[in-house]
Amino acid sequence: MLTDASVLELSTQGLLAEVVGYETDEIALSAQGSSIVTYRGAQYLDFTGGIAVHACGHSHPAVVAAIIQQAQQVMHVSDTMRHAPQLELGQWMRERLGSVLPGSPWSFLFLNSGSESIDAAAKLALKVTGRSRFIAFEGAFHGRTLFATALSRSKKRHWQAYEGFLGPLRAQIHHAPAPRSDSGNGERAICDISGFERLVKRIGGEVAAVFFEPIQGEGGYVPFAPEAMQRIRELTRQHGILLIADEIQTGWGRTGRWFGFENLGVAPDVIVFGKAVGGGLPLAGVAAPESLFAQWEPGEHGTTFGGNPVACAAGLAALKVIAQEGLVARAAERGAQIKARLRPLIGSHGVVDVRGHGLMIGVELRTAAGKPDYAGCDAVKRRARENGLLLLTCGAKLGHPAVDNATLRLIPPLNVSDDVLERGLSLFESALQQVTAKAA
Ligand code: PMP
Repeated sequence: MLTDASVLELSTQGLLAEVVGYETDEIALSAQGSSIVTYRGAQYLDFTGGIAVHACGHSHPAVVAAIIQQAQQVMHVSDTMRHAPQLELGQWMRERLGSVLPGSPWSFLFLNSGSESIDAAAKLALKVTGRSRFIAFEGAFHGRTLFATALSRSKKRHWQAYEGFLGPLRAQIHHAPAPRSDSGNGERAICDISGFERLVKRIGGEVAAVFFEPIQGEGGYVPFAPEAMQRIRELTRQHGILLIADEIQTGWGRTGRWFGFENLGVAPDVIVFGKAVGGGLPLAGVAAPESLFAQWEPGEHGTTFGGNPVACAAGLAALKVIAQEGLVARAAERGAQIKARLRPLIGSHGVVDVRGHGLMIGVELRTAAGKPDYAGCDAVKRRARENGLLLLTCGAKLGHPAVDNATLRLIPPLNVSDDVLERGLSLFESALQQVTAKAA
């Protein structure tokens, strides 16, 4: 067993690739609920949830028990045979999705990561449509594999270093202006989808799928406009284009509905899920009507670890907690409370918008000159951390004034207690005040 000092020493030896951009130099020692304790002895309130993963908080007892039980029974079999946790999770998810989107029964391809699942959904769309183009939106983030990187358009640094390879690939990928919703201050609503309409008129017959995030995540917690998405749904139907919802961040109750698309009144053809679905273990995948998956031949896609039994058991336990404890409705209520509390800040401390649904709330900052305040967001995040609150930032950085934004994100667990939420919001507000008082 390593001593505290030896772990701290190891962390200085360049053992880990720094490309992932660790937020802090801390090393996690233990984590429960909304709290993380580190080897340096610090204790934080965690409003990042491992990037919107911990819907029921860190190490929920029901999830831990399911992991232990399943690890003792079957740990891994891959595609040699089916296993019970995948079947049970599939049954639970079919019922849940069927109640939201009735019709052809839903089937599931379980994989490991969101990015990998985006790639798989794209391959499915290519296969079933026989077409070769995709549409996504300005500000989108769909992941880090080469295809998901090409599909994404939120921060230049995500793709610039790879442009020599991705450039030609991107000739098949078109980015339309995002149909942003009127979010708080009304200033940035872009519900005009004429760009999308022109694109579909020109190349609609060649497009296999449109990918969208119901609330753009990395792009700045930007909710999409229901009316515009409904028109996009109509157009995709008319042109035989699959509409694929990237619910990796928005899914499983995060936005106060089981799925983010429910806030938009549209029914996607395919859903990509991840993050919270594994209860903290790596699990993600693609949901599609059985009839669509049936057009894919065995062996045209595959995975060694995808849908691992322990991850599926953990995920099912987490989803059951979300359902049994009424956490979806709770997320909607708490989100409305957070917005009501923080919206009066609009117009002071650089805050220009407070937006989102459920417990996926973004607070956007601009400089006095009206530019996205990336440095301000970083300063608030650092100050909040010094005060004991972990936060993340997001926001598109493309050099494109209509899309760029600098935003702080609040993504506490869906079962965050009133007391912890109150403490977290107070720490957040003090960090904002301390940073702006310093700047003034
Ligand atoms: N899509 C969205 C909307 C995401 O938020 C993320 C992760 N932040 C991904 C895709 C990629 O998922 P992963 O990191 O599991 O590959």
